[in-house]
This record gives sequence, C-alpha cells and structure tokens, in this order.
Amino acid sequence: MNTPEFRAPRGTFDLVPPRGEAMLAVRDALAAPLRTAGYGYVETPSFEETTLFARGVGESTDIVTKEMYSFTTRGGDDVTLRPEGTAPVLRAVLENGLHRGALPVKLWYSGSYYRYERPQKGRYRHFSQVGAEILGTEDPASDAELIVLAVDAYRALGLTGVRVLLNSLGSHESRPAYRAALQEFLRRLDLDDETARRVEINPLRVLDDKRPEIQKALTDAPVITDFLSPSDRAHHATVRSLLTAAGVAFEDDPRLVRGLDYYTRTLFEFVHDGLGSQSAVGGGGRYDGLSELLGGPALPGVGWALGADRTLLAMEAEGLPLPGATGVQVFAVPLGEEAAAWAFSLVTSLRREGVTADFATGGRGLKGAMKAADRSGAKYAVVVGERDLAEGVAQVKDLATGEQQAVSVNGLVTHLKRLV
Ligand code: ATP
Ligand code: MG
Repeated sequence: MNTPEFRAPRGTFDLVPPRGEAMLAVRDALAAPLRTAGYGYVETPSFEETTLFARGVGESTDIVTKEMYSFTTRGGDDVTLRPEGTAPVLRAVLENGLHRGALPVKLWYSGSYYRYERPQKGRYRHFSQVGAEILGTEDPASDAELIVLAVDAYRALGLTGVRVLLNSLGSHESRPAYRAALQEFLRRLDLDDETARRVEINPLRVLDDKRPEIQKALTDAPVITDFLSPSDRAHHATVRSLLTAAGVAFEDDPRLVRGLDYYTRTLFEFVHDGLGSQSAVGGGGRYDGLSELLGGPALPGVGWALGADRTLLAMEAEGLPLPGATGVQVFAVPLGEEAAAWAFSLVTSLRREGVTADFATGGRGLKGAMKAADRSGAKYAVVVGERDLAEGVAQVKDLATGEQQAVSVNGLVTHLKRLV
C-alpha cells in the first residue's frame, strides 16, 4: 500500500464516483421543487467581508464566535469563507436592487460552505447546501410554501424518515416579554460563566444548548408559545393550517431556536433519526429584521438551507440506492487500428445523438476490452474487427443476455438509438 503524500484537509473529503454522481443528483433533487415553483437562481462569491457575517449571522452565535474561516488578504481586507448563504444572498439582493422590482423576490442557490467545526460524521469543515429565500413579504403562505417544497424534495429522493419541527419565535411584539421571562428563569439556575453571559446577551440561544444537564434544567422554562401576540399567533396558525392542507405533517417544538440570531416568527428544522447526533438535514425560518441589520430597507424574508451531505447520509441510512450513477448505454470495443478510428467516430456520433457511449482505448485486446465494457455499465457492446469493417458490419452484443447480432454500419447509430 502506498501512503499518499497529500490528503484532503481535516474535516473535508473528496467525492469520487459513484458518490460524486450521487451528490450531484441530491443537489439537483433538492433544487428541483424550487425550479418548478419559479424561483430564480443566484450565485454569490464564496467569501465575503467578515463584517457581513458578524452582523448578518449574529455576534453571539457559534458560527461567528467559533466557526468562521476568516483571514486578512494581502491587500488588508478582512474576509471570511461563507459559513452560510442567507446574509450573502440578502447582500446581493440589496446591492443589485432586486428589492426595488416586483416583490416578493424568490431565489435559490447551491454551493460550498465552510465552518471550522469539530469534524465528525455529518459535521464537516467544508459542506454543501441548497438554499432558498423569499424576500419582500410577511405572508405566512411563503413560510408554508418553503416548508412544503423542502418536504417534497426529500420525498422525491425517496426519504421517508424526515420529520418537520416547527415553532414561532414571535416578532418584536412578542419577543421582549418572552425574553424577559426566560431571562428571569435562567438567572435562577446555577450556570457556568459562559452560559450565564449568554443569558444576558441572547437568552434564547441557551435553549439551543445541547448538553443534557442544561436541557434538564430547562424543563420548566417558559415557552414562547405562551407569549405570542395575537398577530404572531394568527401568522403561526396560518402556516400550520396551510401545511396541514398540503398534507405535510409537523411537530410543534416550542424549544426550537436554532443557531442564527436574526430569526423572527416561523422557525423550522428538518430532522432525520438515522443520523445520530447530527440529525438536522435542513432548517430555516423567517428573518424580518435582517435587511435593516445590513443597512437595507425593511424587507421581510423567509428561507431555508438544506444540507446535501447529510441528505445523502440519510438516504444511505434508509438503505436507498445511491442516485445518479448511470454509466453509459453503449460501449465500443475496437480490435485493431483501423477499427479504433472507426469506433472513435461511432462513439462521437452516438454522443451527438444523445446516446451515452464510451470506448476501449489503448489497443486493448478483446478480453480486457470486454471487461471494460462490463464495468462501464453499458447494456450493449459494439465489437468491431478489421474483417467486420471490410464486410460493412459491426457486432452488437447484448451484455445482459450475451446475444450477438451483426448490424450494418450504415444504420448502426439509428439501430442503437432504438435499442437503448
Ligand atoms: P447543526 O445544529 O447540526 O450544527 P446548524 O443549525 O448549524 O446545524 P444551519 O446553519 O441551519 O445548520 O445549516 C443548514 C443545514 O446545513 C443543516 O441542517 C445541516 O444539514 C447542514 N450543515 C450545517 N453545518 C454543517 C456541517 N458542518 N457539515 C455538514 N452539514 C452541515
Ligand atoms: Mg451548527
């Protein structure tokens, strides 16, 4: 065994076939319902000014305090590899003036994200998300729409074990009273210094503390549901009834807060029980004040990000076949130099006609070339020697049954097109 000199950095991994294709297929499937729903596609740089995330994700979040890949460029700019997509997309919307056109603006995106996390199964330093945002409306139908589209994406991949957790954090009408009540409760607990500090800065985040002893101490903590204003309550009720009407089951989770500071009203998470402690396959919520935080006008919004890596792990946990690895339909096996040139043009014609095809290279003998044909996943091999060519035919072999048939080279592309 040779030990390679270089390895992928800690917390990262390569996607090689067939998992590479599976990841592509997962990303496509997560985005498909958005495209069907008419969302526009947006792409932003993979790094941004560090202050965008500090402000747009929140100074007290784990992401900003512990997980950012930040560096100073040669030119002295402080930049950060994007840990999430919402702040960059909102930055792009404001910068490009999309919010001055027809509202709402509905966008989707897909790409790599970077967080300096403790690597473990389902938690990486480089990972892949598909995201969606609806900007410029407070309508609860948008919150419900996004949840339905995510659930439809998971369903289309064949996943049956994704659960929807739902909460409302309330708006500025409800939050202050809840925050105060929660703070009062938390101040009475015996907490470590860091957590006690968090109680003063952002008490809701304490609810997100995963430590069992903290969770136990929170059993009797006040819940936001009891503090929602009439309009927040009505907003939440509409989201719930639209989900029910769409046949989407959900579980109320009044403790759900999630990592970002900017959430208001609707908050949700998609979890899968086959993933161990990294159970969230996606999540999102409403963030009505974020635009103002970034120096923009009032622009309410709601969005989600689905983790492609964990979605693939969830499919494996459910024993679903890896999607996307198709191989080719036809594999050409030339015997001799003249046949090799002919096979090259056959394969080129097939590909141009939309038939997926490959061929044996390097003047391989029949045995090795047939092995390559089997590995290619092709249903048919086209075997040609100099004698076949002289007779104007090629041998088309069904690789499943072993049946072989001489076909005239003139009609061969049409013949194969019909077969596959
Ligand atoms: P977690 O609670 O697991 O840390 P999160 O709340 O930080 O998740 P979000 O910021 O909401 O996650 O990102 C949306 C989705 O992206 C997550 O539900 C998850 O599927 C995926 N994700 C987040 N961080 C990672 C990571 N480090 N590695 C792989 N996937 C991730
Ligand atoms: Mg996290």
